Amino acid sequence: MEVHRQTCQICGSRKVRNLLVREPNKHDEVLVECMECRELVARYIIAKGGYYHHAKGYESYLRGLTRDGDFMNSKIMKGEYLEIKENCEKSFAEIKKHLKEVGKDD
Ligand SMILES: [Zn+2]
Repeated sequence: MEVHRQTCQICGSRKVRNLLVREPNKHDEVLVECMECRELVARYIIAKGGYYHHAKGYESYLRGLTRDGDFMNSKIMKGEYLEIKENCEKSFAEIKKHLKEVGKDD
């Protein structure tokens, strides 16, 4: 497993925040802002149907898919949603464990 913690290349800070940007007919994107020097750190483009916001629930997930214009996918079974949720939780727990093992959990 390879896990990278986002680091500002300008000032070396790891204090960053995600700015979720939504515009019609474009993929959602995340701009990562350094909270120390306030510069742009990185950009991520979110694949269609790829956004999952933990603890926001099934209805929110469906709204996200519909917003992507993916009406077929909006019929996703709740079981599939629960699988995504479970996988994210499992992955997050593994990543936290891994970071602790390599001494990067600060
Ligand atoms: Zn910075």
